[in-house]
Amino acid sequence: MSDDLVLYDVADRVATITLNRPEAANAQNPALLDALDAAWTRAGEDPGVQVIVLRGAGKHFSAGHDLKGGDGTEDSGGEQKWTVERIYEYETRRYIGYSLKWRNNPKPSIAAVQGVCIAGGLLLAWPCDLIVAADNAKFSDPVAAMGIGGVEYHGHTWELGARLAKEILFTGRAITAEEARAVGMVNRVVPLDELESATRELAVQIAKQPTWALRMAKRAVNQTLDVQGFTTAVQAVFDIHTLGHGNAMTVAGYPILVDLEHMKGEIAAKS
Ligand code: ZN
Repeated sequence: MSDDLVLYDVADRVATITLNRPEAANAQNPALLDALDAAWTRAGEDPGVQVIVLRGAGKHFSAGHDLKGGDGTEDSGGEQKWTVERIYEYETRRYIGYSLKWRNNPKPSIAAVQGVCIAGGLLLAWPCDLIVAADNAKFSDPVAAMGIGGVEYHGHTWELGARLAKEILFTGRAITAEEARAVGMVNRVVPLDELESATRELAVQIAKQPTWALRMAKRAVNQTLDVQGFTTAVQAVFDIHTLGHGNAMTVAGYPILVDLEHMKGEIAAKS
């Protein structure tokens, strides 16, 4: 069952990982995230795979975390025994932990993004080395409205620069594919009906390069970011993120300050 949530295919030394929950705009529940991580690991370890492509089935890349199924309730038999410790442990493993692990996968990766990429969706796209966006793609992190300062993996400042990072966090507004390309967050913007072919063409081109050279090129860039403090900063901001959950817990007894029915309506309206 869980396997169906994520599809895995290899052709021309390119592994294609597909988020396959289109009826929920690829919202991420624990089973989907665990299947996704297993697919990343499989691609990383398969000597026949040179490049990893991550895509989403359906109209949208990912609407973010599935708030019905996350944050530890599954470990307590569905009972909502919220504690900051439980939230921290869940998010350390499945959110920031998985995202950093995928970012550090030695093989080059490309995210192909169409439709919405909301909040937790960024935790799937940003760890990829390259991003190809359809011209209808929109990226947003509107979690300030829920009393949280930003999603778990703080790529914002690194990807967008400080001014735009603050603007989208303060306002919750989405940036377009073209706007994301202009600031360097996205490599290429293509018409929606060319997203698959353009991503594939790029992946196949990269896959022809020597494995070791690709690995060293990726490491050179990531190591440069790490010397500037990338991983340390992401981990530190994750603790700030958890302060948001902690505050919501004390105010509302729930990890976010919003009612879920209202938010599902908002997401549906944007779909
Ligand atoms: Zn969180």
